[in-house]
Parts: sequence; structure tokens; C-alpha cells
Amino acid sequence: MIKEKNDNVSVFEKLIRLIYPAKCMVCDMVLNEDTPTYICQPCKKSLPRYLKGFAKSVQTPYLDGIFAAFYYRDGVETAIHNMKFKSNPRLAQTMGNLICEELMQYQPLPEFDFIIPVPMHPKKKRQRGYNQAELVAKEAAGILNKEVHTDILLKTQNTRPQIQLKREERLRNLESAFTINNNTVTKKNLNRHILLVDDVLTTGTTINTCAKILKDNGFSYVYALVIAIAQK
Ligand SMILES: [Zn+2]
Repeated sequence: MIKEKNDNVSVFEKLIRLIYPAKCMVCDMVLNEDTPTYICQPCKKSLPRYLKGFAKSVQTPYLDGIFAAFYYRDGVETAIHNMKFKSNPRLAQTMGNLICEELMQYQPLPEFDFIIPVPMHPKKKRQRGYNQAELVAKEAAGILNKEVHTDILLKTQNTRPQIQLKREERLRNLESAFTINNNTVTKKNLNRHILLVDDVLTTGTTINTCAKILKDNGFSYVYALVIAIAQK
């Protein structure tokens, strides 16, 4: 069931915007105070959409399907960079909104019970102030009328940025970085279907590792929703 999203800008939000005008997360243009999301219409229109629906990929054999909303380039690259580094959680909410708009065009969606964001190591989360994947997941969950669980899959080791590593090193680096919180995995979680949420899919190693861990622990189907896919 799809829950209608309340797009009104609250009075409090309007006051905040008088002091800090809301700007488009792509072109930095100051937005009209009634604009519910942090993106202007021309930028929104020109985002490079992926348009492929849920698909299986040989690179991520543990996933039953991946949905990417956009290609990781142009306005999307700028928007994701700003979402990560501008310390404004509203940008992640905007992104959650944008990807759900894309997602809704591919009905029926696969059945899933709840959403798990790809976790960030607590130390990194403290440094940044938030896990952007978690914020995007929460926004998507509100729209899709599902719950978000952040206590099932944990990142217990702070890995080096994947981009600096070779493939084999990447796998080794990741294998032990994530763990399942056994206290949260009870019989009621068995045979459940999960939707993992992450920001950018590059090699797919991270999200595939998360899916493997979930399946090794009894979850039967794991799908993924990512903002963007990076293509070489
Ligand atoms: Zn713009």
C-alpha cells in the first residue's frame, strides 16, 4: 500500500528558510519557500534516469533484484556529493523522495517486509553526523509505508574507501566488516523479504556482501534500491 506523502512546508520550516534559504541541491539556486524538496524543477527534469526497473545482475548474485533510480553522473553526482557533505539531512529526504517517484513507475514492486539501509561504521556516522543511506531509507519507508530496521545489519569495522583497493582486497576488506546482530534475528525474521538501500552502486561488492550476510542468516529474498549506478 502506498501512503500519500504530505508535501506541505511547515511553518517552522518556513521560518528556518527565512534565515537559511533553501537551495537546489544541484545548481544552488534559491528555491521558492513553498518548494517541498530541495531541487528546482529544471534540475529535477534533467537528472539522468536509469529506467530499467528491478533487474538481476551477475555482479551481485546474492541480490534478487536491484533498482537504480539514476546514473551516477551530471546533476545526480552533484546532488549525492552535497547530500553527503553539506550536513543537511533534508537533502537526503529530497533524494528519498526522488528515488521513490522513479520506483513507483515500476508497479507491481517486488514484495518486501521491511527496509535495511547499508550501515555505516558508528565512528564514521559520528564524524558525518548521519548515515545518508539511512536517511534516504527512512524517507522511502515513509512513502512505501514500511519500517526501517537499523539494528539488524551492523558495520563493525571501519573499512578504507573501496575505490583505493583492488578487487580481491575489496572482498577481503568487506567480508569481516559487516555483522548480523544476533539479538535481533529471531524466528520471526526468517523467510522475510528485505529491501536494502544504499546511495551509489559502483562494483556492487558492498551491497552483495550485505545480501549474502542476510541470506546466510535466514532472510529469503533480498532486493536493493540505490540512488544511482556508476557505469564505466
Ligand atoms: Zn537546480
